[in-house]
Amino acid sequence: MVDIAELQDGARRNDPSAKWTREQVLSIRYWTPKLLSFRTSRAQDYRFTPGHYARLALGKEEELVWRPYSMVSAPDDDYLEFIAVLVPGGPFSTLLEQLSVGDEIKVDKACFGFLTVDQLAPGRDLWLLASGTGIGPFVSILRDPAVWQHFERLIVVHGVRNAADLAYREEIAAIAKQPPFAASRAKLCYFSSVTREPGTGDFSERIPQLLASGQLEQQAGTTLSMHDSRVMVCGNPDMAFELRRYLSALGFATSRRGVPGQMAFEKYW
Ligand SMILES: Cc1cc2nc3c(=O)[nH]c(=O)nc-3n(C[C@H](O)[C@H](O)[C@H](O)COP(=O)(O)OP(=O)(O)OC[C@H]3O[C@@H](n4cnc5c(N)ncnc54)[C@H](O)[C@@H]3O)c2cc1C
Repeated sequence: MVDIAELQDGARRNDPSAKWTREQVLSIRYWTPKLLSFRTSRAQDYRFTPGHYARLALGKEEELVWRPYSMVSAPDDDYLEFIAVLVPGGPFSTLLEQLSVGDEIKVDKACFGFLTVDQLAPGRDLWLLASGTGIGPFVSILRDPAVWQHFERLIVVHGVRNAADLAYREEIAAIAKQPPFAASRAKLCYFSSVTREPGTGDFSERIPQLLASGQLEQQAGTTLSMHDSRVMVCGNPDMAFELRRYLSALGFATSRRGVPGQMAFEKYW
């Protein structure tokens, strides 16, 4: 039997004219005391492409704090998943720190961003270079079966300070073993670089240094070239700046006026 009161309450709670929907926190997972992932309910008509980010709001109705967060979940999951770092004293972080399962979080009805595979020209190798929480959108991209058909190699590099920050390492390895990904054309290479705990990751240098020294290409067994490689970069703005300069010197360009490029960036601050 349909509960009319519940339906009316739902309609009131998610006003169709509002720019956002009210969602509920379904689960929270702490990777470290300052790094967490959380899942929320999802409006049925909320659509996004892997690599997009959502705008989330916490706080009192009259003083909402809005921040962008990349989607970690896949477009067909019936929840939204995000990864977040708790920045000491940060306005959103302070509210996020107090978040519990069952709490409300507001999600803008629109999604945003250009860190999507459709920004890139067809290529052979897809390099996904992330620092810290920048791994989030790449998990969503890796959960898209089409990506595993379009490329021959998916090369994920996750740079962090401490080994405990290597979120989603097991999940990424598991994706490659699951159907339909396991039988796909693409092969996955995953590399970690842990700068403050040498010996705990595959490398201990920052990603720009690893590329410049040729170590990454050597370990991945392929070379970066404008013809074959497509590169996505997400996270720390200094890393993004250095990689953009390095790749531009090799002839790589971002998409412009609808013309797909060879590289795409998302800076988190
Ligand atoms: C397009 C986009 C997508 C984003 N997606 C994510 C995401 O998926 N996960 C996430 O944790 N953050 C993400 N961010 C950053 C996020 O929106 C917030 O800025 C951040 O979580 C801190 O919010 P705050 O209000 O607590 O502090 P703010 O006042 O917003 O930031 C304070 C300072 O914290 C540092 N900082 C901000 N974000 C990060 C970060 N991710 N890692 C390390 N240091 C940081 C910077 O030095 C910044 O100046 C994204 C930002 C952009 C622009």
